[in-house]
Amino acid sequence: MNTLTDDEKLKDHCGVIGVYLSDHEPNASRLAYYGLQSLQHRGQESTGLAVGDGERIDHFKAMGLVADVYNKENLSALTGHIAIGHVLYSTCGKAYIENAQPFVSRSKLGTIAVAHNGSLVNTDPMKEFLEETGSTFTSTSDSEVIIKLIAKNYKKGLERALTDTIQLIKGSFALCVMTEKTLIGARDPNGIRPLCLGKLQNGWILASESCAIDAIGGELVRDIAPGEIVIINDDGVLSFNFGEKTSKKTCVFEYVYFARPDSIIDGIPVIEARKKMGEVLARESGVAADVVVGVPDSGLAAAIGYSRASGIPYAMGIVKNKYIGRTFIAPSQEEREAMVFVKLNAVKSDIEGKRVVIIDDSIVRGTTSRRLIQILRKAGAKEVHFRISSPPVKYPCYFGIDTPARADLISANNDSEEIRKAIGADSLAFISMEGMIEALQSCEYEDDRQKIDGKRDHAAQTVGASASGATNCGYCQGCFLGEYPMPMIGELGKR
Ligand code: AMP
Repeated sequence: MNTLTDDEKLKDHCGVIGVYLSDHEPNASRLAYYGLQSLQHRGQESTGLAVGDGERIDHFKAMGLVADVYNKENLSALTGHIAIGHVLYSTCGKAYIENAQPFVSRSKLGTIAVAHNGSLVNTDPMKEFLEETGSTFTSTSDSEVIIKLIAKNYKKGLERALTDTIQLIKGSFALCVMTEKTLIGARDPNGIRPLCLGKLQNGWILASESCAIDAIGGELVRDIAPGEIVIINDDGVLSFNFGEKTSKKTCVFEYVYFARPDSIIDGIPVIEARKKMGEVLARESGVAADVVVGVPDSGLAAAIGYSRASGIPYAMGIVKNKYIGRTFIAPSQEEREAMVFVKLNAVKSDIEGKRVVIIDDSIVRGTTSRRLIQILRKAGAKEVHFRISSPPVKYPCYFGIDTPARADLISANNDSEEIRKAIGADSLAFISMEGMIEALQSCEYEDDRQKIDGKRDHAAQTVGASASGATNCGYCQGCFLGEYPMPMIGELGKR
């Protein structure tokens, strides 16, 4: 049977890249491939590239990791000066090549390819509307709605097709779109998912994270603003705002867990945000201890910050097996639990006989923390104090981060003391909501890279920049507070 249950429905989080080579060198696919390697942490299930040479668009998609999927043969068949690429991660454990991106649509007006990171919250009504007017769908992905809408509106011209589509779709989207001659980037009116612009010596890059720009020798220019569309072609970079009122609500979980520490998102270096969260955590919930360790990889920076602020020495303490995928992917709870032992192990000499503060970025189901405490105790820890650099995750995310339904979120159903007992820690504390936002805001900076060639709508540069306070602060904190940037539509609202 092919019917997905509510929990099995695809909850994608992904990475996108776009490359435009102004001198028409035909190797955009190779650069996009290196960019995708750097975005692999954003999705490990499938990957794809679409490449244009001014006349035609070719594409290639497959299940698996970037390093395994591409080779000399398939890359050299993708020649052209414009490329977009995608990595996809869905957690349902069922992998469908039909959902791999970029989606490509061909018509007599031309070819369009779309790579999308994010989740739409009005997929069902949009799908119904499109089906009533003759569209058919080949995947269960909400991203297919986007390409069908652009294709439907394409006769009005590219810019109108894009703005009309973007005004119809609701949710989170960071988009890389291409036609035979043009590369386009767009970010939803709340800028929930990241997207940035980079400059190459001979062209331009769009990427979910700046680490991909670094990887291909480019320079980060700036982030695409919420509600902004950039059109890149031989005339340069044209930027405009697609008209809707924008209010910045960048996903806070990008900083907490998802993004790579060497990326800079909306002007904030992710590693600095994490270190600062660790510092605030030490101030808010200090404890007498002999050593601070971080859970690799996303807890490491916060542990450095905690150690710095508390004066307690930092040690490696835990080693991660680099070759194991994310435990979340394991389909059953039993397997997930067993995977933690395979994935993480204690460094006995750092731990034995010591009072240990262990820092992780988040507790979701509680699986990792429970197992980690067992590992540390087995290695001889005298005390284990768990500290978390994000507040309790109590609500699901509808905008592209995979969090399970409420029933499976340990913090949705238990207070801190109950969780402490359940995971077996001597003490447990989460950073406060205000503390996390304080940490992020202390890293915000105005940056003079915010200038590019071409026209630019200045309103788009400043949206949300001055808001402060924990609830109206320019960040989506839906998973912590249950307050989302927009209402859920249809079935989503009932979860
Ligand atoms: P859990 O074991 O279910 O409590 O999950 C918490 C662990 O999973 C932490 O170590 C996080 O670094 C990691 N984590 C948090 N969010 C996600 C996510 N969306 N996908 C995969 N891993 C995650």
